[in-house]
Amino acid sequence: MSIKCFVLDLDGVVYRGTKLVSNADKRIENLRSKGKVLFLTNNSTLARGDCVKKLEGFGIPAEEEEIITSGYASALYIKENYSSPRVFMIGEEGLKNELEAQSIKTGMRRCNVVLVGLDRNLNYTKIATAAKLIRNGADFLATNLDNTLVTEDGMLPGAGAIVSAVRTACEKEPIVIGKPSHIMGDIILRKAKAAPQEILLIGDRIETDIAMGKKAGLKTALVLTGYAKQEDADKSEIKPDYVLESL
Ligand SMILES: [Mg+2]
Repeated sequence: MSIKCFVLDLDGVVYRGTKLVSNADKRIENLRSKGKVLFLTNNSTLARGDCVKKLEGFGIPAEEEEIITSGYASALYIKENYSSPRVFMIGEEGLKNELEAQSIKTGMRRCNVVLVGLDRNLNYTKIATAAKLIRNGADFLATNLDNTLVTEDGMLPGAGAIVSAVRTACEKEPIVIGKPSHIMGDIILRKAKAAPQEILLIGDRIETDIAMGKKAGLKTALVLTGYAKQEDADKSEIKPDYVLESL
């Protein structure tokens, strides 16, 4: 069975922070001659348009339609599951843009959804507001649960750290949208327009990328240019179809 769609995680596969993974631009050009290419990220601080600009900055042409972020996936999920959503968001401009792109209203009062993502301007009031709304009946959604964000300055707190604060304060568990959730997996299947076994997901994290790919029935490849090392692949019970040095 041949591969019709390649789904590439961004950080750790295509680039690391502000640096291109060696030859990733040429590899992507080559993949485009073999099939459709989609790009995937759990980072909710970038809207799809921001991802396009970042890729173009590395000399990789891309279109918004080819990008799936946890923020975009969250906005689609809310649009499709609520008849009149009003969202209190913990997140940044990129997440707000994705909600607005789906015509979803945001605010601080009378919200029926609380969406928590990465927010580098987090404060006590935001956690308190989120927890209060959830205790009063709003649904609790998380863009993703990544503990860490890998940056040039090392490991910084990821969205998961912020979700944990809200979860502790409201004593409820969130619905998770991003990888490894099947919700992100379903969006990939819809966008790829191919059968699961005709899709190859390429990622650098076993517990998010590879786990989601396997749940969705996709072919999976782990690359060693990001988070996971060969020994992680050896130890893990989640086995990718391929382990590759790089893209
Ligand atoms: Mg990654």
